[in-house]
Amino acid sequence: MRVLLVYPEYPETFWNLKHALRFLGKKAPYPPLGLLTVAAMLPAEWELRLVDMNVEPLRDEALAWAELLCISAMSVQSASVRAVIARANAAGVPILAGGPLFTTAPDDFPDVDYLVLNEAEVTLPRFLEELQHGRARHCYTDSAHADLAATPIPRWDLIRARNYGAMSIQLSRGCPFDCEFCNITSLYGRVPRLKDGARVTAELDALYRAGWRGPVFFVDDNFIGNKRRVKTQILPAITDWMTAHRRPFVFNSQVSLNLADDAELMALLTRAGFITVFIGIESPNDESLAECNKIPNANRDLITSVKTIQRAGLQVQAGFIVGFDSDPVSIFDRVAAFIQESGIATAMVGLLNAPRGTRLYQRLEAEGRLTGDMTGDNTDGSLNFTPAMNIDTLLQGYRRIIDSIYSPGNYYARVLTFLRDFHPTVPVVRVTPVTLLAGLRCAWILGLREQERREYWRLVFWSLTHAPRLLPLAIELAAYGFHFRKCFECHWAESGA
Ligand code: SF4
Repeated sequence: MRVLLVYPEYPETFWNLKHALRFLGKKAPYPPLGLLTVAAMLPAEWELRLVDMNVEPLRDEALAWAELLCISAMSVQSASVRAVIARANAAGVPILAGGPLFTTAPDDFPDVDYLVLNEAEVTLPRFLEELQHGRARHCYTDSAHADLAATPIPRWDLIRARNYGAMSIQLSRGCPFDCEFCNITSLYGRVPRLKDGARVTAELDALYRAGWRGPVFFVDDNFIGNKRRVKTQILPAITDWMTAHRRPFVFNSQVSLNLADDAELMALLTRAGFITVFIGIESPNDESLAECNKIPNANRDLITSVKTIQRAGLQVQAGFIVGFDSDPVSIFDRVAAFIQESGIATAMVGLLNAPRGTRLYQRLEAEGRLTGDMTGDNTDGSLNFTPAMNIDTLLQGYRRIIDSIYSPGNYYARVLTFLRDFHPTVPVVRVTPVTLLAGLRCAWILGLREQERREYWRLVFWSLTHAPRLLPLAIELAAYGFHFRKCFECHWAESGA
């Protein structure tokens, strides 16, 4: 069987980092880990090709070659998904689809031949078995959760790693919390399931053997969902592996804010090579945090928690949401002020949306407030429900936050606030010919052509005189800021705002 694995294109989003990756000569931030893992579950005798449409176009010749097209996507990729399905249908290539988009809305895709939903470790073997006997069904679904010990190592041979800003790897699925707007627990459950230390280092070995050096993203929704095992098994194993291999990688992941309460865990993370964590802070408003059941953020001084993590040697990136029923009209100024004071450079501020499968979706449906499906990008200025606040006030306030925090003056000031307090124990950006060239491109574009010239050179000068080893990180953050500004300019232009 000739199988074409297709990863649909992302629109311009906060996280596709398109404008920052341009400096590095990279095409996409991460490879399609789910498809590469599914590829490793397919029969060894099948012939596989992968097209990541974020890296290269899907050509008609590839469709003509394929006997089966295998597609996986998240909701933000919907537009590209529909285009791929239409082309495969027209070319007469049967489609096998899985992943979060199809699992949460299977009825939206009548033109897909085989829907293999939920966790592929559970449903894909059944499909393969029945396909072999000529009786494959249209839909395979099972809410059982997979044992991650059975998950194969991704087929890294199917991609060109140099096209990507970082590689990705997964330790666990599931999260012990249950935030009202989040679909992670409905997809993966509340009991985190982890691979063991030997298995994680085997995956690091595979990346290392594939020639990768540099950033590796643990894609877990909450890397510290099972703190005990992470502390006693996983991080010690990663630390030993990193030491034995002369520290070829730096890691980042997503965690909950209760990380700030555990000095030992923060020390273990930095020792293992973690340099950045993304945290859902959501709101500085206590009532809004209570409304969405954000347990790890309750009853704490949020700024102090962020500073504690930064001082432990971890850059904090964070997510914020406005549009909760409990948000007062002062929320916009409070969120912008919080972000500025915290020194969180990468602050993803989005509008509340209700993904399918969440408790929020059910509540809003029961209250008759749902207006449709969310786009999958909560920073594009769209909403899929009627908010409690006047909608014009909400949209104008949202735009005011973004325009404030990503103005060059405020953004660069925030980067400086962060760098002054940041004392990592390991180099956070590897200096290589690629990053040196990226630095030259940044100097040319950000330092000479763009509106932030003055702020850019002030940051470079400060880094050289106060913290030279942080200069590569300072330049990387300047490139990120450029992307965020361009990304929102694009959103405002599209929405006509
Ligand atoms: S802590 Fe994060 S992953 Fe866990 S339920 Fe809340 S939003 Fe989802």
